[in-house]
Amino acid sequence: MRGHDPLGGLDAFLSQYTGELITFRRDLHAHPELGYHEHRTTRLVSGRLASAGLRPSVLPKGTGLLADIGGSDGHARGPVIALRADLDALPVADEKNVPYRSTVRNTCHACGHDVHTAILVGAGIFLARLAAAGELPGRVRLVFQPAEEVPGGALDVLAAGGIASVDRIFALHCDPRLDVGKIGLRTGPITAACDKIVVRVAGPGGHTARPHLTADLVYALGKIVTELPAALSRRVDPRSSLSLVWGKVSAGSAANAIPDDGIAEGTVRCLDDEAWHAAPDLLKALIDSVASAYGVFAELSYQRNVPPTVNEAASVQILADATAQALGPDAAAPAPQSLGGEDFAWYLESIPGALARLGTRGQNIGDDLDLHQGTFDVDERAIGIGIKVMVAAALTALGGRAVTPEPLPGTATVG
Ligand SMILES: [Zn+2]
Ligand SMILES: [Zn+2]
Repeated sequence: MRGHDPLGGLDAFLSQYTGELITFRRDLHAHPELGYHEHRTTRLVSGRLASAGLRPSVLPKGTGLLADIGGSDGHARGPVIALRADLDALPVADEKNVPYRSTVRNTCHACGHDVHTAILVGAGIFLARLAAAGELPGRVRLVFQPAEEVPGGALDVLAAGGIASVDRIFALHCDPRLDVGKIGLRTGPITAACDKIVVRVAGPGGHTARPHLTADLVYALGKIVTELPAALSRRVDPRSSLSLVWGKVSAGSAANAIPDDGIAEGTVRCLDDEAWHAAPDLLKALIDSVASAYGVFAELSYQRNVPPTVNEAASVQILADATAQALGPDAAAPAPQSLGGEDFAWYLESIPGALARLGTRGQNIGDDLDLHQGTFDVDERAIGIGIKVMVAAALTALGGRAVTPEPLPGTATVG
């Protein structure tokens, strides 16, 4: 007897719906909305899901939504798998010359969240059909979060109990350096923490002829700026990739006057969760020791941002199996660690899951595109590919399909 394959109808579904979903993506692209202002986007997604028979609920702040598929009868105790997309655009001017160019000044979907949203809408419509046919062995929660770039939208989903009963969560993110058709996978950290620090130094000030009678504030600030990155590299495990880079330093107003205050601002990026948690205290101690040696007062303001996204091994295996099933054995590629930040990390502090890279480089899409640039665009074949991977990941995680494909009869398994 041949078992029924829920993925079987996906190709037919995609040939029917891909055109509509590309149009949907282009509509979002032409009408981008910044974090916590995604009202139109929320309305469009909600309407499309409702017409597929789902009952989405909008998050308390008015943008972003959740929708559950299946699980209300017979499978109520089955696993719950969340799939996440983000809705917001960036305050970046659209520099492309395309029919779906942004119509909003200085606002653009330069991080591909319009693509993520269209993919999750498509996956949701297909999974809703499976559930209606009684073929979904558990529950899938669609998470359309607001404000990834702000960041903080993930925290709103958490606060609303959005992943309270969820067993695993998956997400895709566009990658312009990966060919369309490829899925980038990595176990462990895949995106970094990115925090902001501001160091203010203060001293009595004075004449540059008499630095010994005061505190040479510019010299001390220079020491802090040069010593801190060097000291960090010797105080923190190099594998945590903790890096401090200054972006702004200023002090003084005249060549012959020692100023009484100065400031240095920079970012701290980190791939390791433990080092990230330890970073503020370590930086404060290092700054204090340099400042006290030169008689100035230094104050650190450490502004926490997102933690590193640390992909769970079993979830990455599910994505690898899903990618092989949906796209073939050669579609998965190793993903490099990125020092960019991603607020998906907050979900992974509570539940297991993984974020994969979705290849978007391809036809009529330049090789030199990058995220957060006004020229960013994707090969829209990535939408159908993303839907396949999301659906296969959900079904694999729900146990509807074997997590590891059975070896073919007569083939040897290499251990
Ligand atoms: Zn981004
Ligand atoms: Zn993004």
